Amino acid sequence: MSFCEKCYCYDDSYVEGEDITDDQLENDPKYEPHRYYYWHGDIQEDYQMPKGYECLCESCFGDLLGEGKIIEKYEWKTNKLNPKWNDDTMGWFVPI
Ligand SMILES: [Zn+2]
Repeated sequence: MSFCEKCYCYDDSYVEGEDITDDQLENDPKYEPHRYYYWHGDIQEDYQMPKGYECLCESCFGDLLGEGKIIEKYEWKTNKLNPKWNDDTMGWFVPI
């Protein structure tokens, strides 16, 4: 399931099995099935989200990235290893 913990939007998998009609979904402004959702789970990712975030939609991910609150392992423009990156502490879910 995908559910953004910042703006609270979600996709189909989040409401799977719930008693919601397609009309209700379509009318819900928080229903964003076409966004990409970024996760922090048990596997290491090549980005570090702010503490406490486990899932973010691409829109919020982009906002936080712009604010410098997300650190990417590889710098977006150059694709070079980010000097701030630390494999031991980054790329994992960090509880609040
Ligand atoms: Zn979001």
